[in-house]
Amino acid sequence: MGEFDLITRYFTRPAKRAVIGVGDDCALWQCQPGMQLAVSSDMLVEGRHFLNTVPPKRLGHKALAVNLSDLAASGAKPLAFTLALALPRVDESWLQGFSEGLFALADQYPCELVGGDTTQGPLNICITVMGEVPPGDALLRQGAQVGDDIYISGSVGDARLALEVMRGQLSLHAEDFEACRRRMEQPEPRVALGLALRGLANACIDVSDGLVGDLGHVLKASQVAAVLTTDWIQDSAAISPAMQSLPFAKRMDMALAGGDDYELLFTASPDQADAVQEAANESGVSVTCIGRITSGSGLQVLDLQGVPMSRRFASFDHFAH
Ligand code: ADP
Ligand code: MG
Repeated sequence: MGEFDLITRYFTRPAKRAVIGVGDDCALWQCQPGMQLAVSSDMLVEGRHFLNTVPPKRLGHKALAVNLSDLAASGAKPLAFTLALALPRVDESWLQGFSEGLFALADQYPCELVGGDTTQGPLNICITVMGEVPPGDALLRQGAQVGDDIYISGSVGDARLALEVMRGQLSLHAEDFEACRRRMEQPEPRVALGLALRGLANACIDVSDGLVGDLGHVLKASQVAAVLTTDWIQDSAAISPAMQSLPFAKRMDMALAGGDDYELLFTASPDQADAVQEAANESGVSVTCIGRITSGSGLQVLDLQGVPMSRRFASFDHFAH
């Protein structure tokens, strides 16, 4: 099968909202008057972002999910995406699974595949997503205010936990492992929550490299400091049953520095606490208050007694090793 047959067979579907979709030199999209375009790219490299054991259907889902997570963090509504794909060889059962997982998630929003590029090479998947947001409504990393509550959506630590089990560093009951593995391989982008937080959150980011590190980006952009509590790591909606089975110190590592969570971390005025919970309910995802924005710079993590901890929680950095 040649390049063009491959594109036609696995990645071409009739255009829906696109004026011109896959097949021409450029895709064409009719923008809604007055809306701003939100654009983001995320690349997934085999061995770096995923293991070669991941089922292709889950990989198709994840490749798009991590991109939609960026739109969610910006409070943007998904519109369209492109797919740049390097494949070592034409493996039809892989392509079938990958495209199924990809389109299943795309159809949920909907977010339309409008173009891309296909080449031979080490497995590498790069998606660019486009979304729309009314001017002034985008959620940014800057904007956190002194006194804001800090929230995290869903649960954190599960993906890292699954990874450690796969590496043989930890063990879990089969059921717990399956739940964590699903969180790692098929994260659910928090798009509905991102939209519901427009006008409510003062700052927002999606947690991909670890909660503490990604919170650091918000603090830096907003020129503020923060205090994080840890009682929520003991018992809250942000800690899954699988995480509950770990000793507290280990759980803290996974929750604060695990990575691959794809949850939204955001700040909002305490006056908005009820509205935040309502937004969460409407979006079908829990949100947990994990700390507060303070003045100055830096981040303090308090232990269960409320005493600042001296430990540091390192985030993932591709070039830090
Ligand atoms: P060009 O020669 O203009 O770069 P290509 O030959 O690479 O175009 O691609 C032909 C058409 O197929 C283009 O519309 C391109 O956007 C689309 N396309 C290529 N690869 C993919 C892919 N993996 N997914 C979706 N569309 C793709
Ligand atoms: Mg091309």
